[in-house]
Amino acid sequence: MTAPRFADVLIPVAVDRPYSYRIPAGMELGPGDVVAVPLGNRTTLGAVWALRDEPGGVSHNRLKEVAARFDVPVVPHAVRQLCDWLADYTLSPRGMVLRMALRDPDDLAPPKPRVGLRVTGTAPGRMTPARGRLLAVLADGLARAKGEAAREAGVSASVVDGLVDEGVLEAVLMPAEALARLDPDHAVAALNDAQHAAALALCDAVAARAFAVQLLDGVTGSGKTEVYLEGVAEALRQGRQVLILVPEIALTTQFLDRFAARFGHRPAAWHSGVGTTKRGRVWAGVAAGEVQVVIGARSALFLPFQDLGLVVVDEEHEGAYKQDDGVHYHARDMAVVRARLEDIPVVLASATPSVESRVNADRGRYRRLVLPERFGGRDMPKIATVDLRSAGPPRTRWIAPALEAEIRRTVEAGEQALLFLNRRGYAPLTLCRTCGERIQCPNCSAWLVDHRFRRRLMCHHCGFNMPPLEHCPKCDAVDSFVACGPGVERLAEECATLFPEARLLVLSSDMAGGIERIRQEIEAVARGEADIVIGTQLVAKGHNFPNLALVGVIDADLGLSNADPRAGERTFQLLQQVVGRAGRAKDGSRALIQTHQPEHPIIQAIVRGDREGFYEVEIAMREAAMLPPFGRLAALVVSAEALGDAQAYARTLVRAVPPTPEVKVLGPAEAPLALVRGRHRVRLLARSPRAFDLSGWMRRWLSSVEAPRGNVRLEIDVDPQSF
Ligand code: ADP
Ligand code: ZN
Repeated sequence: MTAPRFADVLIPVAVDRPYSYRIPAGMELGPGDVVAVPLGNRTTLGAVWALRDEPGGVSHNRLKEVAARFDVPVVPHAVRQLCDWLADYTLSPRGMVLRMALRDPDDLAPPKPRVGLRVTGTAPGRMTPARGRLLAVLADGLARAKGEAAREAGVSASVVDGLVDEGVLEAVLMPAEALARLDPDHAVAALNDAQHAAALALCDAVAARAFAVQLLDGVTGSGKTEVYLEGVAEALRQGRQVLILVPEIALTTQFLDRFAARFGHRPAAWHSGVGTTKRGRVWAGVAAGEVQVVIGARSALFLPFQDLGLVVVDEEHEGAYKQDDGVHYHARDMAVVRARLEDIPVVLASATPSVESRVNADRGRYRRLVLPERFGGRDMPKIATVDLRSAGPPRTRWIAPALEAEIRRTVEAGEQALLFLNRRGYAPLTLCRTCGERIQCPNCSAWLVDHRFRRRLMCHHCGFNMPPLEHCPKCDAVDSFVACGPGVERLAEECATLFPEARLLVLSSDMAGGIERIRQEIEAVARGEADIVIGTQLVAKGHNFPNLALVGVIDADLGLSNADPRAGERTFQLLQQVVGRAGRAKDGSRALIQTHQPEHPIIQAIVRGDREGFYEVEIAMREAAMLPPFGRLAALVVSAEALGDAQAYARTLVRAVPPTPEVKVLGPAEAPLALVRGRHRVRLLARSPRAFDLSGWMRRWLSSVEAPRGNVRLEIDVDPQSF
């Protein structure tokens, strides 16, 4: 048999098909190999997608040669299949999907040898407490990097330098980092009956080494994490790797510590905040099978696992799993696809499963594992509503008397209160009281949000911002602006007036100091270092605040007034999650929900703790309306600098719709945000029954239409999350 002479190489750019290259004599290539190939007048990176004995399509003579093969881990079979699958399903160019799965070989270079410090035996000329601590740390004879030694001893770098100068410490080359092995039996948790049953089912699934989806459906505080960690332990015992996806990886320190307590060490983290070198190391370690467990954001789906045994998707209902720029994909769904391609089990965990997953479980496609109660018999919070129509606060205040009294009681008892308001900034709208002008973003169909802590008016869609205005831009009136409605900053102002003694903390994603600061503040809250926490959805989810006894929802109607058919589900999930922050370590916790519509079925489901009731009503509604998961949807957003251009191309698309009884195309209509960053957006919605191949149909449709020209752009979102 002769070696194949041609290779189809996929290049990580916006092309859908691999290009063919000739394989030079003496070069051996396999599928998934990372190569350098000529493209136009430059050389670019690519991955071998297929090998052939005959060139694919193009005439033989004109083919260029593969320039080089890199000695780095290949893109494994399952990842190549995942790229193909995802590109087909989302109608994204295959090369753009590969982009998420390929790393620059330069980033995978072996790590530089590290220099460490070790004691020599020479006694220091002068002893100080700092020097003493440092020498005590190094007394075990192990070498440590300078920064590490200083940190461990709690001394400054100059203390270390001083001892090096005196010859008390010497620099030595340290061995390459040996990877810590995780111990599946390091500290096994004693599970309760429901946890035990669920954990057994998971372990069986892992041992069976076959595709299966488990929906781990347990109320907040029921101990889902302990359960899926048993599944992880089983995979480790089998010598296989595990991928755990989480929606907000940068905020998961609590989780990392729990993981370390269970298995002896932390897992490898994968997200955009991890530096390039570290990422290269994780990547190579995953490919070599040395990294056993990765906890990551959605991009971790494309890691080159050598022997994956289990995938976990924590908080599977989270909107953050949907990537909404570039390639539009849902990481939860793609995790299921990857598990199917690898023929392994996947666990979807949530206290508020998505309607999609719940329906899949009801129909027997997923196995549902239920944890009906909180761990340790802890009570769920007692939930009541405050009717804002009759018992609301005075004008320009947002905390009703009943909630104020509860907060006071909580703070006086030395416990914590969390006030939830899903609105960043001080006020969502600034209005001129003379002429009624509303201050809008010049680039978007959105109001500018008053961020008073920063003294800026800001657009939450494009980032436009400016200093607060003095004159009204329309009528020129001076001092005529009123802030309308509350944001977390305004709520903090009210709390400071009502509870001057209390320690207040505002937590929202635009906090100065970024994600790292937020992480620290969340840990501080967990340690009890705030009396009243005022936060957006950032604090509503996943965290464990042991001292939190009261949750106040300032405006439960915010999500309900939305026209989006998924608004009900999202509101239910968010309220359930935020209410579930209370009383995780102590009984007697409470939640008060301020609303204008206490009789609304979703508010009622929350108050009565009637999850089943919610799913029943919501699923029936979706089925009747043929909405997901009973029907398929795809959004096509056409945008352009001129509205007319966007509309014209949308009409071109509509004229080309192939007549198909299964598919209905709605629109063109204004997209929910009609103007973003100076681009006008119009939208088409395609809808079909679930059993119909909507993606395939769309590909045929779009291939019959000329591509958009000029500054017109078409974005396709299969399974849009809001519609
Ligand atoms: P969930 O993710 O379902 O909201 P967690 O897994 O965070 O719940 O568990 C809630 C709390 O109960 C945590 O503080 C956790 O440490 C504790 N817990 C759960 N299961 C156990 C167990 N088997 N043994 C000891 N503590 C547990
Ligand atoms: Zn804007």
